[in-house]
Amino acid sequence: MKVMDSGVRHIFRLCVASLGDLFFPRMCIVCGSKLDMGERHICPRCADDIPFTYFWSWEGNPAEQRLAALAHIDQACSLFFYRRESPYSSLIHKFKYEGDIRLGRRLAGMLGEYMAGVSQARALKEGDTVSHVPEEARSRALPEGASQQCALSAGAVAEGTQTKSAHGRFRGIDAVVPVPLHPLKKFRRGFNQSDVIGRELAAALGAAFEPKLIRRRRYTRTQTRTTDRRSNMARAFAVNARVLRRLQAAGVQRILLVDDVLTTGSTIAAAAAVLPDSFRLSAATLACVE
Ligand SMILES: [Zn+2]
Repeated sequence: MKVMDSGVRHIFRLCVASLGDLFFPRMCIVCGSKLDMGERHICPRCADDIPFTYFWSWEGNPAEQRLAALAHIDQACSLFFYRRESPYSSLIHKFKYEGDIRLGRRLAGMLGEYMAGVSQARALKEGDTVSHVPEEARSRALPEGASQQCALSAGAVAEGTQTKSAHGRFRGIDAVVPVPLHPLKKFRRGFNQSDVIGRELAAALGAAFEPKLIRRRRYTRTQTRTTDRRSNMARAFAVNARVLRRLQAAGVQRILLVDDVLTTGSTIAAAAAVLPDSFRLSAATLACVE
């Protein structure tokens, strides 16, 4: 009887979904084409072409180099490359400004699987060479003006040199800490996008989710000039001493800082600066600005 009930419920849901699609067709966020029943957010063709960074398998990737220059962060990872003019930028826009939290969770869930090394499709396997990182990702990851170290690792990648596998290198994270929004901004938006991402990453990595370790000290308006933004961010965060003591007493050593987009790295660096040097810090974002 119970099986029949669940079968009827399933058919009822399908009917409702079909009617919904008939009157309010759902579109792919990236290309705008109509989604089939069972597809969500993005069509299969656009899903296949997401400009993944492959940073989860890549030691010394451009995000790590960007952040290492600013803070004591030794690992960094992003899901995909972000260009304002690219249709894929709509993924961030839809999540962050239109409040599509399910989309944010889905993207963060993908990133979490790749970082934990449980998804084989997009991660290097033990013993593989970095030549398996697709050419497209390699060329994207090395913009003009990339540092010498980056260029060197690019050389190794281009030649398919055997390197130590970086697969699953984000395992062993103890706590995930989202970069906080100022309460006023959070009130206006209704949620902190970094909380949504952080919660999914913590679940995927088997780490504690600690949204109160770092708090925002004051309101920072969006700045366009890099120097303004840096000096503005420098005093934006403070550590919650009570949470810090609790984590230290629990033996937490590895912390993953989470934000939605990595641009200059100044926001994550400013958040990292309030944490004691004794922690090993990593960072993760959904998108990385090229
Ligand atoms: Zn599409």
